Amino acid sequence: MNSHEDKVQRIAKQLQERKSSRPLRLWKKTVSHEVPRPKDKKALDEKLDIRDLDAILSIDVKKSTCTAEPGVTFEKLVKESMKYNLVPAVVSELKTITIGGAVAGCSIESMSYQWGGFHDSCFEYEVVTAKGEVLICTPYNENHLLFQMMHGTFGTLGIITRLTFKLVPAKPFVKVVYEEYETLEEYKKSIWSHYKQKDIDFMDGIIHSPKKYILGVGYFVAEVPYTHSYDWTRIYYVSTAKRKEDYLKTEDYFFRYNKGVTNVHPKSFLFRLLFGKIINSNSILMLANTFKKLIPSFLIPVTVDTFIPFSRIDEFMPWYVKEINHFPLWCVPYKIMHPYEWVATAFLDQVHDELYLDIALYGMRKKNPEHYYRIIEKELVKLGAIKTLISTNYYTEKEFWSIWNRENFAMVKKRTDPENILRGLYEKTCRASRGLDS
Ligand SMILES: Cc1cc2nc3c(=O)[nH]c(=O)nc-3n(C[C@H](O)[C@H](O)[C@H](O)COP(=O)(O)OP(=O)(O)OC[C@H]3O[C@@H](n4cnc5c(N)ncnc54)[C@H](O)[C@@H]3O)c2cc1C
Repeated sequence: MNSHEDKVQRIAKQLQERKSSRPLRLWKKTVSHEVPRPKDKKALDEKLDIRDLDAILSIDVKKSTCTAEPGVTFEKLVKESMKYNLVPAVVSELKTITIGGAVAGCSIESMSYQWGGFHDSCFEYEVVTAKGEVLICTPYNENHLLFQMMHGTFGTLGIITRLTFKLVPAKPFVKVVYEEYETLEEYKKSIWSHYKQKDIDFMDGIIHSPKKYILGVGYFVAEVPYTHSYDWTRIYYVSTAKRKEDYLKTEDYFFRYNKGVTNVHPKSFLFRLLFGKIINSNSILMLANTFKKLIPSFLIPVTVDTFIPFSRIDEFMPWYVKEINHFPLWCVPYKIMHPYEWVATAFLDQVHDELYLDIALYGMRKKNPEHYYRIIEKELVKLGAIKTLISTNYYTEKEFWSIWNRENFAMVKKRTDPENILRGLYEKTCRASRGLDS
């Protein structure tokens, strides 16, 4: 097997010797967690093979850190780190999301109220630039801006080839208690109280309707009276409305949404009974990506992940009920660990919240999805809120750069990809993905 250095050298050499100016895209072993887009131009980009970058290089139990290659999936990472009673500080809920993708795209989870996104738990990245230069990036060295800008720029500034990140202590089981509220006010009060008191290990929720708000608060525990898993016929988000409490093995807790958070596959009980062990979000995304050219756009569910400042959620929810009214929604409290460099300064200055709520809408099918994406984008701008770029994006260029930080992006881009072979952030996420030219 090749050493990590050999693998990185191969990639660097390939980029140094590359003559073509065609855009590049990464070829990973696992499926991409992006909403399938039938006209995506990136499908024709030249592929850079990083499939072999999928090893866990070391776990330092004393320091509670891990160093790994970007193609490591959260499933593999949790399995390995649990041998030392440790887990990553943020574990994306779908088993095959990779740690590289979690940094370059986005990642949230029920420990985000404490740790932010997975990228916030990272100490160091090794990044290969488009020119084949290998850079070590930390928040404190000469590449600190590149370190901060790797998050949420979807691989347009370089290729992460190694990451070092924090692990936190874990126990074998998780107890979840479901708190039910009839109003947003009570729901918010409880979220804020747990956030401030830090009296729990995990916190996320399902908003089943404007009158049924469930908050699932979790605790690591050593012993349990029973356990449930949600990898066959049971549906986790449905259980949150029916149960008062639940016990899961820690791995089963982390991947409780692996069949889709609120857009679960297979849909019927009979199909789950027959195929539930083999069909999950991974196999559905794989199928959808393979046949995406054939899928009519109204069959691709509207998928939106929003980060709403806690102080503005009172304005967002009534607007959402009036204009969209699709439930259930996934709600994940998310702590902003520091003012992010990838967000435009003027945009950040509008709000001063330390806590955001990630409100995620999955599985809504509409004849005119563009209308819904567009009204959400416009409303979020008004609220100082942000949507992740995992789905279809219709921002105008002006709107886009009023939210994302153009100066910081351009500064790093000039250094790492001056010939733009990894595409610009706006071009990649808002134009090429919709089949439009730059
Ligand atoms: C339907 C759906 C459900 C989701 N559910 C959840 C959830 O439950 N929890 C959660 O945390 N997130 C969720 N996400 C978001 C998900 O975490 C992000 O989309 C994440 O970026 C996916 O990672 P991936 O490993 O699949 O990477 P990919 O989708 O393959 O890549 C994402 C982007 O990162 C770039 N990239 C990948 N690897 C590298 C690298 N090594 N270096 C530089 N750039 C790289 C790619 O070019 C691409 O632009 C969901 C997304 C979707 C579409």
